Amino acid sequence: MDIQNYYQFLSISGVNKDYIEKAVFFLKKSGTGNLRLFYNGENKEDRVKHLSFLMMNKYLNLLENKDEFLDILKWWNKVKTVNNSIKGDLHVHTIYSDGTGTLPELVELAKQIGYKWIGFSDHSPFLENNLRLNNKKFIERHHQILELRENSDLSIYESIEADISLEGSLMFPDSWRDSLDFAIISLHEDIREYNLVLKRIEKALKDPLVVSFSHPFFGLKDGFSDSYIKELLQIVKSSGKAIEINLAPQFLLRNLKLTALCRELGVPVLFSTDSHFVLSLNLMKFASIYYPDLIDSNILNLKDSINVSH
Ligand SMILES: [Zn+2]
Ligand SMILES: [Zn+2]
Repeated sequence: MDIQNYYQFLSISGVNKDYIEKAVFFLKKSGTGNLRLFYNGENKEDRVKHLSFLMMNKYLNLLENKDEFLDILKWWNKVKTVNNSIKGDLHVHTIYSDGTGTLPELVELAKQIGYKWIGFSDHSPFLENNLRLNNKKFIERHHQILELRENSDLSIYESIEADISLEGSLMFPDSWRDSLDFAIISLHEDIREYNLVLKRIEKALKDPLVVSFSHPFFGLKDGFSDSYIKELLQIVKSSGKAIEINLAPQFLLRNLKLTALCRELGVPVLFSTDSHFVLSLNLMKFASIYYPDLIDSNILNLKDSINVSH
């Protein structure tokens, strides 16, 4: 594979070539080869290096499947901009969790794209992990969102990407609920016991803050289990919530099958970029591969605002 092709591919996700080179240089120089040195870096540049390097490693797997890689590049080059029927993106990370963009930077690009709304969904707390929200960061983020709302026509939603506990509850302090407009829920673990996992998801979807269940393929060891995904979609549909179509490149091919099932079963969908870099907001270009085949009323991104009753 041509290295320039690969850098172009990485740039799709907003990864900057210079930062990858800086990260590689740093790791060589540090002599440890230990990527964890970047963890807990409050310094923005270290964060970008760290994440650029993680992304590079992640997509190396995809390179083994050359056809998929070339399809993705082709799709990307075919579509110039985010389609103007798409009104917003609810799954965006910021420097308050493991993202690299500040809120003003992200709001600025969202305006340029032409969105009516954007939602910041930083990760819920887990132990002392600095790449997730904590109480101090949550409060800071809350005030910054209030400030940004004052000078903006764009609706700015205060959201969270909440992990689901073993009991099926959302893993953040109850005191945050009054500030939050929404939550999206997800699992960041190996998904093995499908029935137990589905029960947790079903319970969590009942939480009135929840809009959608995110990245359904994350942690699925067989990649796409037909029976698990079908059952998941039925559960999502009965909850009245949406399934996320995550537009990160590693999910794009599997999404074709997912959206076909959503159409067949009439399940509401939410396209999301799961952005960790500012420029990853442009991953929303990929939505145009899928949504022409879906029913408009089932696509949350085509609505002028997101409402949940709580
Ligand atoms: Zn996630
Ligand atoms: Zn995320």
